[in-house]
Amino acid sequence: MRLSVILPIYNERENLKPLLEELASVLRAYPDSEVIAVDDGSTDGSSDALLELAQQFRFLRVIVLATNYGQTAAIAAGMDAATGDIVLPIDADMQNDPADIPWLLVKIEEGFDIVSGWRKNRQDAYLRSFLSRIANQLIRTASGQSIHDYGCTMKAYRRSVVANLGLYGDMHRFLAAYAAVNGARVTEIVVHHRPRTRGVSKYGFGRVWRVLLDIFLLTFFLRSFTRPMQFFGAIGLSSILLGIATIIGAIVIRLVGGPTLIETPLPVLSALFIIVGIQCVLMGVLAEMLMRTYFQSSNRKPYLLR
Ligand code: UDP
Ligand code: MG
Repeated sequence: MRLSVILPIYNERENLKPLLEELASVLRAYPDSEVIAVDDGSTDGSSDALLELAQQFRFLRVIVLATNYGQTAAIAAGMDAATGDIVLPIDADMQNDPADIPWLLVKIEEGFDIVSGWRKNRQDAYLRSFLSRIANQLIRTASGQSIHDYGCTMKAYRRSVVANLGLYGDMHRFLAAYAAVNGARVTEIVVHHRPRTRGVSKYGFGRVWRVLLDIFLLTFFLRSFTRPMQFFGAIGLSSILLGIATIIGAIVIRLVGGPTLIETPLPVLSALFIIVGIQCVLMGVLAEMLMRTYFQSSNRKPYLLR
């Protein structure tokens, strides 16, 4: 098994050397492996430091992105460049512990496609860990899967499984959920988590909203990505039926001697339901057209092979 460790790096200069030293001692047991360091537009000289370190560490390959694209893009660049059968991203701030790598690989050898790290004893501020627990619960509900720590970067993936997923946006947090819905066998093990001792966290409170919106998208994409008409159509038809029921209700009220049609808000409500319903159905048609273009113009397949 060839292993490609992927390090997304944004202003982590001080962490690079100690991290690579830790990796070196772990990777001694995996002679054929590589570490792909992806500099995500750092401004603290991380890329120069990496190029220098590449002289010292033979397993190190360095990719320098043109600007700061974000952690997902950095991981995607690393996965694209990876040559190993297993890709294994870890944070470059030393919060993940390379000593856990062999344990992740053991699970891969047992036949799992993805082994997720679980920072059971998380070393971050209480509020962050708390919000992250809520987010994880939402993702579990959306995906029907039972992984604890989607946000943990440290996960081992069979490359064949992630190759077809098309990473973009902030999606690295949801890879395990997307892959599982596509049939990947996913499991988890508890990994160490250490407090950050050098450099600063790259995320602030703004992440809360972005993750929430992403979870909303995830719910849609997991269930209905390849059949949007069924999703929008169901909402649309329900709304139209509701509209028809409302107007019938208004007429019945009138017939049994209640207020006339113009004395109740029901006709307006009915029109609203019906218009929204038709819009939803048309939205489904549009989304179907987008899907067809998508699958025809990209080489993505709507299935994965075992
Ligand atoms: N990172 C990155 N690009 C970014 C932000 C972060 O490559 O735009 C990297 C960062 O260098 C680190 C990892 O992603 O290796 C996780 O970031 P951080 O430790 O700041 O996140 P936290 O642990 O605070 O959630
Ligand atoms: Mg960190």
